[in-house]
Amino acid sequence: MQNNKEWQAAYSVIEQLEYAGFEAVIVGGAVRDAILGRPAHDVDVATNAMPDEVKSIFDRTVDIGIQHGTVLVIVPAGSVEVTTYRTDGEYTDHRRPEEVQFVRSLKEDLQRRDFTMNAIAMRRDGSFVDFYGGRQDIEAGVIRAVGDAQKRFSEDALRMLRAIRFSAQLGFLIESETLKAMQDKADNISWIAKERIKAELDKLWVGKDVFNGIKKLKESNLVNYLNGTFQAHDWSEFNTQDKLLGWAYFAVLQGDHWREVLGDYRLSNKEMAFVKAVLEALKALKNGWTKMDYFLYTQQELEAACYFAELRQLDVQMPQQSILEIQTALPIRRKQELIVKGTDLLKWSGIKGGPWVKEALQAMLEAVVNGECANEHHQLKAWFEREYVRKQENT
Ligand code: ATP
Ligand code: MG
Repeated sequence: MQNNKEWQAAYSVIEQLEYAGFEAVIVGGAVRDAILGRPAHDVDVATNAMPDEVKSIFDRTVDIGIQHGTVLVIVPAGSVEVTTYRTDGEYTDHRRPEEVQFVRSLKEDLQRRDFTMNAIAMRRDGSFVDFYGGRQDIEAGVIRAVGDAQKRFSEDALRMLRAIRFSAQLGFLIESETLKAMQDKADNISWIAKERIKAELDKLWVGKDVFNGIKKLKESNLVNYLNGTFQAHDWSEFNTQDKLLGWAYFAVLQGDHWREVLGDYRLSNKEMAFVKAVLEALKALKNGWTKMDYFLYTQQELEAACYFAELRQLDVQMPQQSILEIQTALPIRRKQELIVKGTDLLKWSGIKGGPWVKEALQAMLEAVVNGECANEHHQLKAWFEREYVRKQENT
C-alpha cells in the first residue's frame, strides 16, 4: 500500500525537505488509512519549512492554499500537498479560523487536528509521532476529539459531521465525551454551508456501514438540524460505491418532499435528474416495466430502482432477464435513431407545422420501440398515414 505512487511521491518530497534541513512527515487520512490497511487517495505532507522555503526547494510548485500554508509540490512521481505546521487562530463563525499562525512544532500542528486517528504523523522511516493516542483509538475503533471536544466542535461545527461520516466509513464508535459534546453543540451545524454538509453526506452514503452513520446522526441530535427524515433501520442493508445511489435512496425515503429536501442540499441539476428518473422507474416497476421504460431510463437508473425495491421489499414486478439484455434487444436505443424527422411528416401530410409534429414523432417513436413498426421510411410513412393522419381526420 505504501509502495503506491502517492506514497512514493510523498516520500520523495520529504527526502528533499529533509536534505534542505527541514522536518517533514506524512499526516492526516493517509496515516490513518495506512494503519487500517485501507488505500488512501491523497498522501499529505506537513513540514516545519515556511511556505516560501518550500517553494524555494522545489522547481515546480503551485500555490493552492498559501494563506493556510499549503503548497502543491510537483515531483516526477506525482503531486503532493505540503502544508506548513500551523495553529489556528480564533474561530468566529463556527467553521474557519480568522487566521492561522505558522509554527515550527509538529506537536502544535497535530493538536489542531480534529480526531486522534487523524492526528498521527508518520516519518519517512515508518515511525509514528502520536501524541494523542491515535493508534490506540484506531485499534479500538473509536473516534475521539483531540483535546476538549466541546471546544473543538464549538470552533468548527463541521467536525461533528466528519465524525458521523467516519463512523460510516470505518464502522467506528464515537467516544462518549465526544458524543456528548456533539449532542450539546449539534445546533451549531446550522452555521455550516449546505455544500459542505452535502460533501460529507456524499462520503457517508458510500461508507461500508451507513447504518452506523445514521444511528450516530440520531444519537448525536444532529438529525434535528438537518433537512429530511433519517431512520437508521431504513439503511440497515444499504451498501453502495456510488454516492448518487445514496441520494436517490435518501429521496425514496423522503416521500413527497424529496425535491425540496434534496434541493436544500444543493444537488446539481444532473444529480436531481438522476434521482427523479430512479423515482419514476421505481414507481413504474409496480406493474412491471414496459419496453418504453427500458428505452427511457438508463441501465444504471433501472438497476437502482430494482435495488431499492429489494431493500424496501416492495411488491413489484421485477424484470425476469438482465436489464442490459432487454435494453440491447430494443429496436432503437436513442430518440435520435428514429429515422423519420419532423420535416418528413410535413412533407407527407401537407399539413402546416404545429404541436402535432412533436406528438406524431413521439407516437412513432413508441411504435418503433414497441416493435409495432420497423424503423424504416416506407413502413413509418404507412404507419403515419394509417395511424396518425386518419385518426386526426376522425377527431
Ligand atoms: P479523507 O480520507 O476523507 O480525505 P481525511 O482525514 O484525510 O479524510 P481531509 O479533509 O483530507 O480528511 O483532511 C486531512 C486532515 O486534515 C485530517 O486527517 C485532519 O487531520 C485535518 N482536518 C481536516 N478537516 C479538519 C477540521 N475540520 N478540523 C480539524 N482538522 C481537520
Ligand atoms: Mg484526505
